[in-house]
Amino acid sequence: MTTESQRIAGALPLRPELRDEKPYGAPQLDVPVLLNVNENPYTPPPAVIEDIAAAVADAAGSLNRYPDREFLGLRKGLADYLGRESGVHLVPEQLWAANGSNEVMLHIMSAFGGPGRTALSFAPTYSMYSEYARNTHTAWLAGPRRDDFSLDAGEAANLIERVQPAIILLTSPNNPTGTALEQGVLASVLEAAGRVDIDGAPAVVVVDEAYAEFRREGVPSALELLASHPNLAVTRTMSKAFAAAGLRLGYLAASRDLVDALRIVRLPYHLSAITQAAASAALRHADVLLAQVEELRAERDRTVEWLRQRTVDGTPLRVADSDANFAYFGVFEDRHRIWQGLLERGVLIREVGPAGWLRVSIGTAQEMDAFKNALVEVAGL
Ligand SMILES: *Cc1c(COP(=O)(O)O)cnc(C)c1O
Repeated sequence: MTTESQRIAGALPLRPELRDEKPYGAPQLDVPVLLNVNENPYTPPPAVIEDIAAAVADAAGSLNRYPDREFLGLRKGLADYLGRESGVHLVPEQLWAANGSNEVMLHIMSAFGGPGRTALSFAPTYSMYSEYARNTHTAWLAGPRRDDFSLDAGEAANLIERVQPAIILLTSPNNPTGTALEQGVLASVLEAAGRVDIDGAPAVVVVDEAYAEFRREGVPSALELLASHPNLAVTRTMSKAFAAAGLRLGYLAASRDLVDALRIVRLPYHLSAITQAAASAALRHADVLLAQVEELRAERDRTVEWLRQRTVDGTPLRVADSDANFAYFGVFEDRHRIWQGLLERGVLIREVGPAGWLRVSIGTAQEMDAFKNALVEVAGL
């Protein structure tokens, strides 16, 4: 089978490192129970839809003009939201946004990565990072996690000292495992990052908090450390807890200097007037949009508990602790068979990360019942 990129190569001067690559993406299949990309299962309420529609209609009236390049209105909305969510006071100039936190991450790699530089993370983790590294000619290295998917503070610091990365990417809660970063580990990574010497500067530490709103009671956000670390960036998104994956709005909080560096590499007018209007309107309804987060957290805890009580051939399932809106479980001898069997029963989950493990996003109670019933049938739990 020839891949898209192999077909192109020969006819077009595709970069050699892209020749065997396929476009990234989980399968988008039309099945009744979609539990594969960690979306929020709840649609926006009518009042929110109306407000977004009105804001977009208003923005449409001046579509002949380029949008506000600095989008300080939206950045203020995001700063206010984070202030309420985490109690950390931020000014709009410390916020940055783009078309999904994926684009924010690309801005980070474009500004701080590049030829001769390395981005370091810890596997298993989000599989997109290595692709941004590739696209920006940044070397990519993933260090190990422990058996329970947590990080060892000392080992992480040693690795940083040895590799001298320009960018360190930590995902908390981590995808696909759900693991939150321990404060001690982050402290030790920040300390080691401060000792890195990239043309006289420390490494940039990025904590990807795409799932932060789902974290359990008492789990801190890295936002609290921004004031004391000008080389720290915390990324967030409206795609998960905010129930707005279709909006494509990701953002980041950091020092003003770090944000100013990202302004150099962004495309001009990268956030359309429509996106800015819709996102600002959605933010005004943050409380309503986030209303189901509590319910999803409770459903997550119930799902983890339920999975932990199952056994396959006498062996209990392993289920990772989760601070996110998904559960990561295994270990199946043939996970593809399980995935396929669920799909045949109308339930789409995700085959991702180490061999034998599967990830299920948390949906509504009914969707989770469908998942559990299908899993019992397919895996004989
Ligand atoms: C879903 C996810 C994102 C969000 O990406 P968007 O581009 O904002 O939709 C970012 N990081 C991780 C680890 C994710 O799982």
